[in-house]
Amino acid sequence: MLEKFVKDHYQKSLKDCSNEEIYIALLELVKEQAKQKESHAGKKKVYYISAEFLIGKLLSNNLINLGLFDTVKKELEKNGKSIYEIEEIEPEPSLGNGGLGRLAACFLDSIATLGIPGDGIGINYHLGLFKQVFEQNLQKEYPNPWIEKNSWLTKRDKSYTVEFRDHIVKASLYDIAVTGYENRTNQLHLFDIDSVEEKITKDGISFDKEDIEHNLTLFLYPDDSDEKGQLLRIYQQYFMVSAGAQLILEECEARGCNLHDLPDYAAIQINDTHPTMVIPELIRLLLIRGICIEEAMEIVAKTCAYTNHTILAEALEKWPIAYLQKVVPQLLPIIHILDNEAKKKYPDEAVAIIDKEDRVHMAHIDMHYGYSINGVAYLHTEILKNSELKPFYEIYPEKFNNKTNGITFRRWLLHCNEELTSWIEELIGNGFKKDATELEKLLQYQGDQKVLESLLRVKAEKKKQLKEYLLRTQGVEIDENSIYDIQVKRLHEYKRQQLNALYIIHKYLEIKSGIIPEKPVTVIFGAKAAPAYVIAKDIIHLILCLQELINKDEQVNPYLRVVMVENYNVSKAAQLIPACDISEQISLASKEASGTGNMKFMLNGALTLGTMDGANVEIADLVGKDNIYIFGEDSKTVIDRYAQGSYVSRDYYEKDTALKEAVDFIVGREMMAVGDEEHLTRLYNELLNKDWFMTFPDFKDYIATREKAYHDYNDRMEWAEKMLVNIAKAGFFSSDRTIEQYDQEIWRTGTSK
Ligand code: PLP
Repeated sequence: MLEKFVKDHYQKSLKDCSNEEIYIALLELVKEQAKQKESHAGKKKVYYISAEFLIGKLLSNNLINLGLFDTVKKELEKNGKSIYEIEEIEPEPSLGNGGLGRLAACFLDSIATLGIPGDGIGINYHLGLFKQVFEQNLQKEYPNPWIEKNSWLTKRDKSYTVEFRDHIVKASLYDIAVTGYENRTNQLHLFDIDSVEEKITKDGISFDKEDIEHNLTLFLYPDDSDEKGQLLRIYQQYFMVSAGAQLILEECEARGCNLHDLPDYAAIQINDTHPTMVIPELIRLLLIRGICIEEAMEIVAKTCAYTNHTILAEALEKWPIAYLQKVVPQLLPIIHILDNEAKKKYPDEAVAIIDKEDRVHMAHIDMHYGYSINGVAYLHTEILKNSELKPFYEIYPEKFNNKTNGITFRRWLLHCNEELTSWIEELIGNGFKKDATELEKLLQYQGDQKVLESLLRVKAEKKKQLKEYLLRTQGVEIDENSIYDIQVKRLHEYKRQQLNALYIIHKYLEIKSGIIPEKPVTVIFGAKAAPAYVIAKDIIHLILCLQELINKDEQVNPYLRVVMVENYNVSKAAQLIPACDISEQISLASKEASGTGNMKFMLNGALTLGTMDGANVEIADLVGKDNIYIFGEDSKTVIDRYAQGSYVSRDYYEKDTALKEAVDFIVGREMMAVGDEEHLTRLYNELLNKDWFMTFPDFKDYIATREKAYHDYNDRMEWAEKMLVNIAKAGFFSSDRTIEQYDQEIWRTGTSK
């Protein structure tokens, strides 16, 4: 089919086309095919509003979902071409930061796959989050442009006017088609301004934060460490929700809605607090259309639902009234009404929308004026109900519900691990592609030596491929026979990459003292730190220094190597995850809402080394304690210790010699020889005097559990059996299951069974 398409469009044969030409042809072919699967929404439609959509490259995924991947791959091979080389040409959009954005992308895939009419609404950031480059063992940030003349974006002949206090802008609509797996095509709507100017950045990612006309859609999460940055974020958020709200009302009216019955036509899912202003904005638009305030509030409260993604108080947005006044004064009368009404009914200061310092708590708007509040894993939702959002749970118990996150198996199994997919298919057929719980059929092969050996061969192949990939892309050489121990995720103190680093130091010191590991280990990291997050960047510096020190040390490097992958993104995740033996999920218990990386690793046959946090709790429940490595204090202990304010990190340091040695090493002679004194000393002091995310109390157990995992790895058959159980039990974490629950319990479009 590609051959014919190329002939018709280029008047030449596939053989004679360059890879670039083939890429563009495939782009067009996929867009045409996806268009044919567009179908009208029924009455009710889902709108998933999110500041982030970490969609990654789309070519192969779209081909898989359209059922064309194998045909195209073979056709290309027949003509001496490779789909993998063509994939490399596609620029990677970096429209997200981490789990929250990747979740939004998986959800769009599942919404379309289940045949639910549902579109995403976001912003078309031209330079993405940022591109991470390592220079002198430090993270440096650069723009990450991804929009080319030929791209997945389709400019629509549609725009909306968005009014700020001092500017009026035109929000132009761009769409990216979202094709479901053998099902309908939905859209990801991304709003943009025509006047954006990519060239205004200088010195990496700096730019004039007040030049809204040129900077509004440049970056995701521009630095908000000063007032100008915070104002820019408010500009962006309002831009997204105002254009989005206008689109929603227009579409609903076109489907027959008279606005009084809006909840019958739309379910708006607010992904974290960034899109919260959609609530007052919709009320404002309904007022303009002649609906009275009481009714407008009621309509909107029955249309909007909120997903909470964090219990870190500092991550819940609070905008000063004065800032909102500077950007969107038209919303303030409405926000004051929302606040007054809430205060009349619930005088408790803890649930106020506007606090005593004149700040607007965005999550509080969502909870008072939305009909559903969901957490993203069982433990997370329980913590929200019983501690973090307890005052709200007492008022609105019926609104709270849990929706454990999920991942799309099309990308995170079928696409990223063709070898494992074929292995599964040969054993249990292909029903698991539509119903992921069928993976449980693999359990019948526990104890089947031949099957287990073939599973180990698949893993070995993926490890070899990763070795080649790292050599090709980063010039790093790793030992494919070593254990691949991987921690990839945003850099944040609560995720505790610093604990992993302390283990590495401990191991290094052991090897130096003559204690040789049973099996060589390669520890791999991938993580971006927010540009203004000082300690996170210090942790990156520590890891990069360890990489340099250890990899150069010939006494140590046969047994231990450290690799920090540059610019971790979706494509790199797709290379790393299938090759992993041990998945590090070591957040401080109670702090990780869910995690989705943990699910991807499990599905690809890695064993989790983790705390009882987020979705790790559900993974542990499913696979049983023999098939996971759990360590550390539980969430109750941690929450109690925070409540008592009794944690003194230095006490642990003084009492545990191994810990003391590892911590002191950070500012020791060897590290100072490769690193920067200011960064290393700041990190050392932070750990010794604060250690807010309590790495020290878990250190001992972490080391012991990690050593046990490494030891167990040597019994290859037993290890393979553990891998098999993890793969077999991963079905629960399909985002198709998650979305079915959203649809049945929150959105109620009546589509899913
Ligand atoms: N970044 C990418 C590219 C991912 O695929 C994922 C996970 O699924 C994340 C970040 C989030 O990782 P985690 O769930 O471990 O925080």
